[in-house]
Amino acid sequence: AFALGVLKLGKAASGSKPYAKPTTINRPKDVEEARLLLPIVSEEQPIMEAIMLNPVVVICGETGSGKTTQVPQFLYEAGFGNPDSETPGMIGITQPRRVAAISMANRVAHELSLTSSQVSYQIRYDATVSSSTSIKFMTDGVLLRELATDFLLSKYSVVVIDEAHERSINTDILIGVLSRVIKLREEMWKEGKAGAKLLRLIIMSATLRVSDFVENKSLFPTPPPIVNVPARQHPVTIHFSRRTSPDYVTDAIKKACKIHARLPPGGILIFLTGQNEITADIEAEDMEIDLQDQAQLDSDFNENMGDADEHVLEGDLDEDIDQELGIDTEESEVPMHVVPLYSLLPSEKQMEVFKPPPANARLVVVATNIAETSLTIPGIKYVIDCGRAKERRYDVTNGIQTFQIDWISKASASQRAGRAGRTGPGHCYRLYSSALFENYFQQFSAPEILRAPIEGVVLQMKNMHIDTVVNFPFPTPPDRFALQQAEKVLTHLGALAKSTSPASNREMVDSQVTDLGRTMALFPLPPRFSRMLAAGQHHQCLPYIIAMVSIMSVGDPFLYEEAIQEGDSTQEDSEDISYLTNETVKAKEMRRLRRKEYFQSQHRHASLGNFTSDILKALSVVGAYEYQGGGVEFCSQHFVRFKAMEEIHKLRAQITNIMRLYFPETRAEFSAKLTPPNKIQVKVLKQLVAAAFIDQIAVRKDLTEHKGSSGGAQYSNSHSIPYRAMGISEDVFLHPSSVLSDRPPPDYIAFQEVVRTSRVFVKGLTTVNPAWLSSLGKSTLCTYSKPFKRTDGTLMITPRFGPEGWELPAVKAE
Ligand code: ADP
Ligand code: MG
Repeated sequence: AFALGVLKLGKAASGSKPYAKPTTINRPKDVEEARLLLPIVSEEQPIMEAIMLNPVVVICGETGSGKTTQVPQFLYEAGFGNPDSETPGMIGITQPRRVAAISMANRVAHELSLTSSQVSYQIRYDATVSSSTSIKFMTDGVLLRELATDFLLSKYSVVVIDEAHERSINTDILIGVLSRVIKLREEMWKEGKAGAKLLRLIIMSATLRVSDFVENKSLFPTPPPIVNVPARQHPVTIHFSRRTSPDYVTDAIKKACKIHARLPPGGILIFLTGQNEITADIEAEDMEIDLQDQAQLDSDFNENMGDADEHVLEGDLDEDIDQELGIDTEESEVPMHVVPLYSLLPSEKQMEVFKPPPANARLVVVATNIAETSLTIPGIKYVIDCGRAKERRYDVTNGIQTFQIDWISKASASQRAGRAGRTGPGHCYRLYSSALFENYFQQFSAPEILRAPIEGVVLQMKNMHIDTVVNFPFPTPPDRFALQQAEKVLTHLGALAKSTSPASNREMVDSQVTDLGRTMALFPLPPRFSRMLAAGQHHQCLPYIIAMVSIMSVGDPFLYEEAIQEGDSTQEDSEDISYLTNETVKAKEMRRLRRKEYFQSQHRHASLGNFTSDILKALSVVGAYEYQGGGVEFCSQHFVRFKAMEEIHKLRAQITNIMRLYFPETRAEFSAKLTPPNKIQVKVLKQLVAAAFIDQIAVRKDLTEHKGSSGGAQYSNSHSIPYRAMGISEDVFLHPSSVLSDRPPPDYIAFQEVVRTSRVFVKGLTTVNPAWLSSLGKSTLCTYSKPFKRTDGTLMITPRFGPEGWELPAVKAE
């Protein structure tokens, strides 16, 4: 434990001007006027005073109050980030989302009339940072990786952790690590070390729920002060629905059309759960606009609805009105200007929401919960809230993921409603009943660290030499079991090893990062993927491996027909596929192309044989895409996601750069085109996949049942054939999206993920030869026995995983 005393900065801190050398700035006139209206601007003095007097300050303010755009400007104006001031280091601001990092950097540069290198951003693929950078927006992952090479963050004078209320894993970890970094910087400063400067930490939250940060003694022994920015929120009338209809997408469209037809001007913001719904909604919009036939532009109605005080209305006012009036009236002449907003939408398109709609048109934004707190859309008067959000759930005991649409928290619902009251009194239409809200909505949603895999963060922490992860000051500590599990996986991958120093209590020996682990931590990728990169430099395989891990981290680029996608929403938040119009053609083509062998058709020579791996299949489509010069055309012909292909391309280039930088001996060169791998390379690639997923191997169940089965030959395809997978007590099945799913079922497979939909499915499959496993397993804690002969003449292999023995039943060797 350490104590953080309140830091008095002597003379500089006293008086009305707590900073010595402010920087002069020159804002455009319109910006100057607009910012005066932001609630946070009148709080500049108390905020800056708190920052100058305390190492850590928490700022709470409603979304749209000006935190993200203004606090960096306060700091800049006070001299932070100015090389000639007392606080020359950069102002760093973290964002959980890439979009927000880019758009906020642009906005602040514009407001300060500075260049994009003075106010820059850095995200995974892209950066505008230079030596003249004063303010740097970045994703939280970027700052975490910087900590590994410079734990003191010596380039920064202040770090702002934005959107802390979202409680993303990275944000939580950053707050924990930074609580130590500011302490170290303070000690060095007190000791008078040459060049030592204080580091300040600002935590910004859109909600008042900050007790996990301020009341957590292991994090901050002296509770940091909280500055509350008074809300300048107009009243928002909440309308619950009488019933909760399951078809909220249709309901949302209808409601939007009604509002448009009947209610005074003002933007409409619709919250749906994911991009698929959003594109569907927009397609349906043309059709549903006919609903305006029933429209009503009644002045009494407007008076009724317009400026009501804040109160909650039971029942659906629209329905009441329908019943009361029950008449058709004139149609609204004004068009709707419908704009989608979701995280993977290209940023130019995202910026559309900030542009005023065409003259006379009503802005309708259809968004995921990205619009809940991080982006404030101007001019919204009506909010339609479906009450649901898509969440990834992860079961730490067996790694099974589910993508579920679930009710949001009460806190989220009120955030969503609040979006309607930014510019004037507004209305929020909740497409669910108040009974449901009261009985089923949690007060707050759980921090991400309690519901996601944490191998990645554990590796990052170990790489910062935080070895005793259980003692780390987490704002909310993860489950102990989850931590152990993460350490186990990292140990299997060879990233961690128990230290050899003798210790009295064996259990207390903490594992430490290995050389391999250090290498792995250099890549902005999950540990399994970086394991493949770190190990895969033989047989000229590197370009393929770079492409494969890029594909795996971007996600499956293929689109699937409905039947396969059903109940499985891993393709959520993908991209605009509206260019695929004809449904039947779409489904048929998808089915045909699912088995297509891309390399063969492109190169007419060496082939991958029949695909025995989903990732090799994806590799081939990336090869073909680049060979043909890319483009939307290719994607619509081959049913792959354009945006995924573009991201894969970028990530390949970026990983190649990292390889060149840290491993010049690999002579990694980026060439977008890939020639088909030869037979040996294919084998090596599959072995690398097996090594990366060495603890995720499944075997066909009949092979484990010792009854002299005749193997796979009896099956024509793999549907409904149960498999046994390590660490999972239930039977698992091959996911229908896999290339392996309609051919004879293989004996052994490595799988990338497990999802529960109608069944427990394994996805991202690669067939493996069990004879590989014993040698691949050696480099990790996993050991496979040498094949041995049984009395009936069959060859057996017994895989064992670690001392705890995640055991797979003995199986027949090939
Ligand atoms: P907070 O971080 O407290 O949610 P912001 O600083 O993001 O608030 O937003 C303050 C104001 O700046 C909002 O009214 C928002 O609409 C406006 N704003 C933010 N980005 C842009 C932009 N790119 N263009 C125009 N206005 C913007
Ligand atoms: Mg913000």
